[in-house]
Amino acid sequence: MTISASYAIIDGMIDFNIPPYVGTEEKYIQEAIQKRKLCGDGMFTKRCSRWMEENLSVRHALLTTSCTHALEMAAVLSGVGAADEVIMPSYTFVSTANAFVQRGARIVFTDIRPDTMNLDERLLEDAITPRTRAVVLVHYAGVACDMDPVLELARRHGLLVVEDAAQGLSARYKGKPLGTIGDYGCLSFHETKNLTMGEGGALLFQADEALERAEIIREKGTNRSKFFRGQVDKYSWMDYGSSYLPSELNAAYLWGQFMECEKIQRDRMETWNFYHQAFEELEQAGYVSRPVIPPYAEHNAHMYYLKLADLATRTRFISYLKEQGVMAVFHYVPLHNSVAGKKFGRFFGEDKYTTKESERLARLPLYYGIGQENREKVVEAVKSFFRKN
Ligand SMILES: *Cc1c(COP(=O)(O)O)cnc(C)c1O
Repeated sequence: MTISASYAIIDGMIDFNIPPYVGTEEKYIQEAIQKRKLCGDGMFTKRCSRWMEENLSVRHALLTTSCTHALEMAAVLSGVGAADEVIMPSYTFVSTANAFVQRGARIVFTDIRPDTMNLDERLLEDAITPRTRAVVLVHYAGVACDMDPVLELARRHGLLVVEDAAQGLSARYKGKPLGTIGDYGCLSFHETKNLTMGEGGALLFQADEALERAEIIREKGTNRSKFFRGQVDKYSWMDYGSSYLPSELNAAYLWGQFMECEKIQRDRMETWNFYHQAFEELEQAGYVSRPVIPPYAEHNAHMYYLKLADLATRTRFISYLKEQGVMAVFHYVPLHNSVAGKKFGRFFGEDKYTTKESERLARLPLYYGIGQENREKVVEAVKSFFRKN
């Protein structure tokens, strides 16, 4: 796994990412400090959960220490164990796989669709074996997977559906918020995502039956949540668990962001649309492919990428942009090509698009408050690369 992302702030460079900051975060953090309540499940944790439950129309939203940890909780709750198989795309972040590897499962990596870079749902049925227990979907760049055929297949084969919606806050599939459609959904509030709390995430689910166990897993295997609600008079070790509850300080930062979610989203969308329009002619001239948004998807401007002709062109493109003061990056080396991927999983069928498409992709700077001047600089740098090449 190599990641070229560089978040170092260099003078005069347009950063790839700057964590979102709206200006009210300190006020809320101070409030948490004054309340003398710094561990989790205080006022801000609860406010954040309620905000997600209301705004994403989901029955349960538990704030977690990361999306990685939300995925781990989903893996435990899904009951996946040794010798079970879990199907997922190879083109994803390592956490999608690690959560299930930790349960002893074998990973079956499938190919992606070249248009959205999401798992190709048409390949799914043939990848299912008697050992398959779950399908994990990744909504890459906040662009929805085609959920209906996956849900139908999962129902027919008795499989659980987990959504890695790390990049998907505020994005939708046929009107439904990502992360609320399958059995479990996992969000990320890492500083590279649309909204942040530094490090953090959330586990979303609709089933009331899952709540008690989810709370126990998140509280080190104890029923402390019930104890704090006065539902039991002492708390004790009930089940397997870990420490997945974030601090109130982080939740307070996130609360500031939730309050300005629309403003952040509007600004990101403006950047995305500006890039998209600006690169239309490059696409028509055959130099690049732009992101594709299928009719069932409402994206959230999480990412803007261009696909170049091939790996060599991308390498030249990224270093040229750097010379021009623009940090562009690539990411995800397909998991099935990695050391751990070979150890813990196998690729199903033919790798028609995963490797080829991932090698062509370059991400452009996109963050809240990037500003029109920087947007124009990025566009000009990209266009000048193609004038010279
Ligand atoms: C960011 C990301 C994760 C990990 O999120 P953390 O909150 O950093 O643990 C997992 N999956 C995908 C697809 C991601 O983009």
